[in-house]
Amino acid sequence: MSLTIEHQVDLQPLHTLAMPAQAEHYCLLSSPSALPELRRQVRANGWRHAVLAGGSNSLCEAYVPGLVVQPAFLGLEVIAESAESVLIRVGAGENWHQLVVWSLKQGFYGLENLALIPGWVGAAPIQNIGAYGVELADVLVSVTAFAWESGSRLELPASACALGYRDSRFKQDGPGQWVITAVTLRLSRHFVPHSDYAPLAAWFADRPVTAEALFERVCFERQQKLPDPKDIPNCGSFFKNPMVSREQAEAFKCRWPAMPQFPAGAEVKIPAAWLIDQLGFKGQSLSGFRVHDKQALVLTNPDRCGAAALRQATDQLINAVAARFDIALEPEPQWLGQGPGSR
Ligand code: NAP
Repeated sequence: MSLTIEHQVDLQPLHTLAMPAQAEHYCLLSSPSALPELRRQVRANGWRHAVLAGGSNSLCEAYVPGLVVQPAFLGLEVIAESAESVLIRVGAGENWHQLVVWSLKQGFYGLENLALIPGWVGAAPIQNIGAYGVELADVLVSVTAFAWESGSRLELPASACALGYRDSRFKQDGPGQWVITAVTLRLSRHFVPHSDYAPLAAWFADRPVTAEALFERVCFERQQKLPDPKDIPNCGSFFKNPMVSREQAEAFKCRWPAMPQFPAGAEVKIPAAWLIDQLGFKGQSLSGFRVHDKQALVLTNPDRCGAAALRQATDQLINAVAARFDIALEPEPQWLGQGPGSR
């Protein structure tokens, strides 16, 4: 399999926040079988490397040294089925939302709440994508991945992926350590609605919850709040919702009775959007980036500003939230071109 490595490649169209950025080297891969040879070349040249998928959760430095690899592996097949459920195997380069649409058409349920999450399937396990009370962990059976360090191809059961709240071992191990090539999901033949989140609960209070109606409503809710990156560059939620201890949450409740709080295991989740909104940032422009006027957790980049401006904008938000609430906001998307990287 021949490899085409391009040089000085424009990354602006390859990530949804559309920052001006260039990769020193870039390779679009259509088959996992090319990974061992790519690894050999990266090592022989002493390059660092990073993986980019659909670019909807990626931030780019102005210059990204080394190689950026985009694993565009396609494929969607049912690999096992029973009266209760099906196992499907999906290539890392498939579009996530198209997978949700396809599953619904087949009568395979479990992905309805995850409609319209942008990006590719291979990126889904990295931050354990989630929305409206459902996360990838609920349906993930295994991840097939290329381990860069050893050069081996592994099938990791979900239990070995350390999936947490917008977190996984793939994220923890650092950029480039794993190239996810496919995921295996178990979907149900029986629809079980998850409509507890307030906007869904309100809509379905006096309507039957079918899978199609739930899918439609999730799409509607997201379209109301989240701008389409094709119209206004953005990368969805910019910060993770912080988790605090129950004691801290109690203290916050006394001080800010209106603060929304959601118990999550031993901790309590505080919506980052509420914190940012309280500080009056909604709709404001910060160093060229804009806090979206319909959802304060979304930063848009209408003027296609770059990494330095983004750092100024996010520092301003992080510092303001820390000063008022003593809570440390953590960005959800990941940087390309920062840190030592792996070779
Ligand atoms: P929202 O309704 O404005 O709510 C703000 C936050 O409160 C959400 O992030 C959500 O946390 C939390 N929340 C609300 N109701 C909850 C409940 N009943 N139980 C537990 N937590 C609750 O949220 P939004 O910004 O419009 O987003 C809607 C959904 O899409 C959320 O689930 C959000 O996470 C998801 N989303 C995910 C991504 C991503 O995966 N990168 C990007 C954009 C939006 P959770 O985030 O934990 O659900």
